[in-house]
Amino acid sequence: MAEETPPAGGEASSGAKGSEERVMAAETTRSRRRGSASSGLPVAVVGGGPAGLTAAIAAARAGASVEVFDQLVRPGAKLRVSGNGLGNLTNTLPPDEFARRLHSPATFTLPALYALPPDGLRRFFEELGVPTQSLDDFRVYPVSHRAEDLLHALLAECARLGVTIRAPARVTGVTVEGGRPAAVVDASGSHPIRAVVIATGGLGYPRLGGTGDGYRLARQLGHSIVTPVPALVALVSVEEWPRTCAGVTLRDAHVWIDLPKWRRQGTRGGIVFTHDGVSGPAVLDISARVARLLLEREVVPLRINLTPGVSSSLWADRIDGWCHREGAKTIQALLARTVPRSFAAVVCGIAGIDHVSRAGNLDRATRERLVAILTGVPLRIRDTEGFSKAMATSGGVATAEINRKTMESRIVRGVYFAGEVIDVDGPTGGFNLHWAFASGWLAGHSAASSHGKRAPITAPVASRRTPRVAPSA
Ligand SMILES: Cc1cc2nc3c(=O)[nH]c(=O)nc-3n(C[C@H](O)[C@H](O)[C@H](O)COP(=O)(O)OP(=O)(O)OC[C@H]3O[C@@H](n4cnc5c(N)ncnc54)[C@H](O)[C@@H]3O)c2cc1C
Repeated sequence: MAEETPPAGGEASSGAKGSEERVMAAETTRSRRRGSASSGLPVAVVGGGPAGLTAAIAAARAGASVEVFDQLVRPGAKLRVSGNGLGNLTNTLPPDEFARRLHSPATFTLPALYALPPDGLRRFFEELGVPTQSLDDFRVYPVSHRAEDLLHALLAECARLGVTIRAPARVTGVTVEGGRPAAVVDASGSHPIRAVVIATGGLGYPRLGGTGDGYRLARQLGHSIVTPVPALVALVSVEEWPRTCAGVTLRDAHVWIDLPKWRRQGTRGGIVFTHDGVSGPAVLDISARVARLLLEREVVPLRINLTPGVSSSLWADRIDGWCHREGAKTIQALLARTVPRSFAAVVCGIAGIDHVSRAGNLDRATRERLVAILTGVPLRIRDTEGFSKAMATSGGVATAEINRKTMESRIVRGVYFAGEVIDVDGPTGGFNLHWAFASGWLAGHSAASSHGKRAPITAPVASRRTPRVAPSA
């Protein structure tokens, strides 16, 4: 799994008075703006991550004047380091299958995913000079293997379109007049606007911009927030034995929450034992559910099948064979043929088998216990590694309060949401970045057509039957 990487880059503005505001505006600003919409107030985009920059491009291409506010000196810090700096921007799934894998109702996410599906996103970046490829027919990366190429392409397109980027500029409020957003407020003052896209991301990796400000802004506007919990994060166990196998990696494991409602919804993939518990793609993918359960319980029981390709009956036959044909060998040594040696010792310990026990001496009850452990090692999770190491956030602005066809707030017209600030998150594999791009695209288009009227806003893509928006320049 290449999703995690040590943070680098971003540096948050304190938002304090006197902080120097750098305004990056292309010289071509005025001449490039199109249509009558440009004569009005700008669309403000709060957050210059993948969701915000894509929203800015969509709105500017639709003719709006656009100003992006980001608290970091260098916006887009998470995009720059994503996928270990390689940038797993999306995957090859069609929108319906993609939506099924997100942790949010597909009915909510599909309009955005149809507005900018994975193949459309790839064309979009190709047109911006960043061709992409998928070496495993699933995960999609830039051919250059450089996530920062994605960021540079978005910033260059913003400059070409005359988008103003204010950075560092931390937005602390959105004022509302007559039921519509009137201005965004930062340390330098109040900036009049005609619409605002809130794309402030979640709470993960605070030094890359994860402040949770978007939740505060949304609450001020009357929105409900589904309690944010860390997602795509390593888990901390009650048991200390993972420490003894720290660094041991299993390429294919099946992980599930050992509670009645959750047993059927496990994840499969690599796992790695750590000094505090477990990590790896299969664990990261289940971590948000575990984190949410930890809001109500002290401990969440997990089970890990270390060899999902070997059924219980196959294990039973194999162990019977050892007992009969290789009875003089220790069970630990025999197990080490299939699982890492340090883990074989752990399995024997949990099963109550002494490390010098010979296979020929195992009684039936112990053999059955061994099979049960091999096909589902119990591990009690007491915590996650927290937001500081969470690659995503689960929870956020409640989807029921957002119009799925436009990303517009159902509470304050002219306010739009995009990206991770919304209660949508996905597993590893480009799901979270794609959601940021797709929802940003839809929100930006919608915001550009928001003129302060009560009339319904024409959505770029309203349903599966509506033609997708071609993300071409
Ligand atoms: C280390 C790491 C690796 C990852 N790898 C991948 C990967 O390979 N594939 C994948 O799909 N996902 C990956 N993710 C997740 C992905 O990066 C995020 O889901 C995505 O960046 C969310 O985009 P966003 O635009 O919604 O939010 P962000 O990227 O978080 O951008 C939000 C922006 O808003 C700004 N902001 C916040 N509050 C304010 C405010 N009050 N005023 C002004 N600006 C504000 C922040 O500074 C930030 O620049 C990774 C995340 C991390 C941390």
